[in-house]
Amino acid sequence: MKRWSPESSATIKKQIQKRLEKRQTIRELYKQKSWKTLVKVASQTKGLYEEYDTIKVQGQVICVGDSVQINSGDQHDEDYVGTIKQIISIKEPTTAKLICLCRIQWYMRKSEIIKSQPKCSEWISEQELFITNHQEYILAQSIITNCKILSCSEYQELDEIDSTIYFNRLEWDLQKKQFGNMDAIQQYCLCFQPVNPDRQYIQCDSCKNWYHFECVGIKNGTYDKNEFNCRNCQ
Ligand SMILES: [Zn+2]
Ligand SMILES: [Zn+2]
Repeated sequence: MKRWSPESSATIKKQIQKRLEKRQTIRELYKQKSWKTLVKVASQTKGLYEEYDTIKVQGQVICVGDSVQINSGDQHDEDYVGTIKQIISIKEPTTAKLICLCRIQWYMRKSEIIKSQPKCSEWISEQELFITNHQEYILAQSIITNCKILSCSEYQELDEIDSTIYFNRLEWDLQKKQFGNMDAIQQYCLCFQPVNPDRQYIQCDSCKNWYHFECVGIKNGTYDKNEFNCRNCQ
């Protein structure tokens, strides 16, 4: 049996003090929205941290691995898009309120890319996304809805397009502000650009290459002759 001693009382006091400090830290981190540090601190504290495979947001079940549209706040008109890597709940110890966070891998949209690469505006589709290696925690409540991210060829085969269907073919390096794997992308037309599914193309009957209507002088978006031969094949 342990006997009371002034030293052990001091140790207990120290432990209580430490626990109180931790509760205070978590509360402060929550107020400051320092999610990354909050996750780190809470994951080291018993009973405050839990991970999940799914979560219910706005009446929808969302799983780890799903892609989602995320509310970007008041400053931007466009929603953000990302893929969920982790779902975490943290108990805020002073109020016992649950803070639900998701770790997100971000995609960039056309509007972001053309700020540093304005020339790419012609071939980037409105529904195109660029995968980044940037991950971040967000509040689960800022998720708007599930969305789909297809490959470029899958996207081109769709009969109907809606605003929750995107495609991805390229990586975006956030530090260097450039594409990661541009060499792997096929270029088309006389203007030598990657295909933009938003634009109209015509195939040359001889060389089978694809050309923009505008680049081969087809006006009004229609071509009524039976055969089309490009400048190189005429
Ligand atoms: Zn062209
Ligand atoms: Zn041709």
